[in-house]
Amino acid sequence: MEYGIVSNIQHYSLQDGPGIRTTVFLKGCPLRCRWCCNPETQNAQPEFMKLEKIGRRMSTDEILQEVEKDEVFFRRGGGGLTVSGGEPLFQGGFTLALLTEAKRRHLKTAIETSGYGEQELVLRIAEKLDMIYMDLKCLDPEKHRHWTGVVNDRILENICMVAGLSGRGRFTVRTPVIPGFNDTEEEIGKICRFLKSLPGELSYELLPYHRLGRDKYTGLGREYPMGDVRLSADEISSLREIVRGYGLEATQEGAEGNWPSML
Ligand code: SF4
Repeated sequence: MEYGIVSNIQHYSLQDGPGIRTTVFLKGCPLRCRWCCNPETQNAQPEFMKLEKIGRRMSTDEILQEVEKDEVFFRRGGGGLTVSGGEPLFQGGFTLALLTEAKRRHLKTAIETSGYGEQELVLRIAEKLDMIYMDLKCLDPEKHRHWTGVVNDRILENICMVAGLSGRGRFTVRTPVIPGFNDTEEEIGKICRFLKSLPGELSYELLPYHRLGRDKYTGLGREYPMGDVRLSADEISSLREIVRGYGLEATQEGAEGNWPSML
């Protein structure tokens, strides 16, 4: 039996894949995105946020028992299990075991990942997934490092690999649009051109910056790194126009409170 550290299991999620999802948030992430709205998932070990302990050791069986309580809701709309984080590839062996067992139990599966992981692991995990959501935050490696703590070479390699593997409707690339980082026509245009050069079919979503995770930083005794910046609705709609101009889908009508859980 495999064990992992889970920060939360969220029931009835509508933003983390098709239909109604049960989203399992795993602890640990090698990135430190300045805008992260789940900072309590970044550290691998359990920690306290205000008086609440975040992080619990759970087996694949314990998690799936919890997920299967929602099975009746999964039937309509292709819902199922979504593994999120933190970064699910960080506890990669556990994520693989969890998804393998979920598939054995005939659950639909999805992942939300930064794409920052070993290619072989990503490949093995991808075989267990119905849907893959992977971030592409910026193409420039140094800029990426400055804002997230890591360069993006692995992420780009993994996006190329997964795009080549995926059938229609299975792979979605997401860009969190962050003021001062990538909220320009130039940055989004570069990403669009890169995505258009890939084999296979993929969807693309822009996710507007929000500040919903701000209070969590206070609870963890940390300073919120983004200060008071904001992104206007006009800015995001003109960036979505650019995406459409490249013939890519810009599927997420994301607004505050209507985001996938991870980003
Ligand atoms: S936004 Fe996602 S990838 Fe970035 S630090 Fe937070 S959990 Fe990790």
